[in-house]
Amino acid sequence: MRDVDADAPVVVAGAGPVGMTTALALHARGVPVTIVEAESEDRDRSGSRAIYVHGSTLRTLERIHPGLGMELVEEGLVWPTRRTCYHGKEVFSRTYSTPGGHGDIPHFSSIPQVRTEAYMHEALEEAGIEIHWDAAVESVESGPDGVTVETADGQTWETPYLVGADGGGSTVRKEIGASFDGDQSENSFIIADIDEVEEDPMPLERLFHYADPEVGGRNVLLVPFTGGWRLDIQCIEGDDPEELASEEQMREFTRAVMGERYADNVTWVSSYKFLQVMADTFVDDHRRVLLAGEAAHLLAPFGARGMNSGIADADEAASAIAVGYRARSDAVARDEVEMYAARREKAAEYNLNAAGQALDYLQGEDPVTVLRKEAAAALADHFEPAGEYLDDAPYGPHTPPPIVTTGNY
Ligand SMILES: Cc1cc2nc3c(=O)[nH]c(=O)nc-3n(C[C@H](O)[C@H](O)[C@H](O)COP(=O)(O)OP(=O)(O)OC[C@H]3O[C@@H](n4cnc5c(N)ncnc54)[C@H](O)[C@@H]3O)c2cc1C
Repeated sequence: MRDVDADAPVVVAGAGPVGMTTALALHARGVPVTIVEAESEDRDRSGSRAIYVHGSTLRTLERIHPGLGMELVEEGLVWPTRRTCYHGKEVFSRTYSTPGGHGDIPHFSSIPQVRTEAYMHEALEEAGIEIHWDAAVESVESGPDGVTVETADGQTWETPYLVGADGGGSTVRKEIGASFDGDQSENSFIIADIDEVEEDPMPLERLFHYADPEVGGRNVLLVPFTGGWRLDIQCIEGDDPEELASEEQMREFTRAVMGERYADNVTWVSSYKFLQVMADTFVDDHRRVLLAGEAAHLLAPFGARGMNSGIADADEAASAIAVGYRARSDAVARDEVEMYAARREKAAEYNLNAAGQALDYLQGEDPVTVLRKEAAAALADHFEPAGEYLDDAPYGPHTPPPIVTTGNY
């Protein structure tokens, strides 16, 4: 490694939501930063993924770039009703009169990831942060004072810190020698986005239907977002996911769940087996490379912890680097990065466990889970907590990860 100028910009690999947030969070803390991105500027990021943005994420974005959180609030929607059906019969419904949350920031905002990313791009432009396109990270060499990064556009970067926010296939993760192990869901899930109709739109409610008879007894999740709906169908034994995700079959499912008027509005379909994996370390040996977002962990989406927890990683990575960047003591700089790893590895374990609980529940064929669901459905008419249990359980626990400290008082 060559000599690293201590004032050189921090390099962030990846212009997904996590990389863009990392860059904004560093800029907000007065640290110069630049982004290197593998894809071209005219890339198509449609086929939106995250829609559910937690209130805490909105507050983070508002704090690091005033106005950004509120843009997602203003364009996003808050569905007022949550409803659950069981084998064709309603077992729970609750409508809220306010969007909850704190101050102007509601409990959540439902907005497609492509729109969230578009607002983040605008924020980067306003902050004067550059994205270098067609610049995939190819090699990473870290040392005690910084990192040498080579990118596909032929550039060599000497930087005090590198953040790997380069997604599930992360080159940065491989280059620092971290492993990436875990499980895969047993079932496949078909996920589709459906455009909103102009006439007679469905009421804005989040619906979970256990074993919906209209779709052959499969579990169905339907979630509204600005301009459309997310339809999620859980495959059952004997299903061929590719066949289920075909245009014709999706039209059938959409007609059955949402009505004839939505049948031709399917804009995007994909089938998934969800991975539940995390890196064995989120930092390199020299404490100069930090992994964030899907480069560090992949979670099943039930409970919406993927992008949300990636944005929390981004903010905490920036906080650690901002101290390390100006520290006069190497030990202090190392300590900050180690605290980042301790906090976010613990958070990822917690989130993996939470998403895993949701996944186990959804796929659960074990007798206890089956009995619990049946008992709750039988009681739901007369005992609201039973219906609420059925409504809540598909998303896992609601709590955020625990706060990790060094143990010092
Ligand atoms: C169906 C579905 C629904 C979901 N719903 C939700 C939800 O409601 N809420 C939620 O919080 N999360 C949700 N998620 C998860 C969310 O989409 C991801 O967690 C999020 O996109 C991760 O962001 P990221 O920036 O870490 O990675 P990515 O979005 O993958 O971005 C990585 C970036 O790095 C670039 N890159 C790759 N390799 C390199 C390289 N070598 N050098 C430089 N750049 C590189 C890529 O081109 C890309 O731009 C969902 C996911 C799915 C699949």
